Amino acid sequence: MTETAPTTVMTTTVACDGDQETGGHPRVYVKLDADTHKAVCPYCSKTFVLDANAKSEAH
Ligand SMILES: [Zn+2]
Repeated sequence: MTETAPTTVMTTTVACDGDQETGGHPRVYVKLDADTHKAVCPYCSKTFVLDANAKSEAH
């Protein structure tokens, strides 16, 4: 019932290997969209968003 909150990250590429809730999966590198600064893990559907403070660094 509880919806998982997006995970805030500081880099445009994030490694995901699941968590205890989803049971884990092989580690994959998810690249955040250049425009929306969001990404969804294809394995566990976890949502990643770029931290607002990281934008200036990425520019
Ligand atoms: Zn994942």
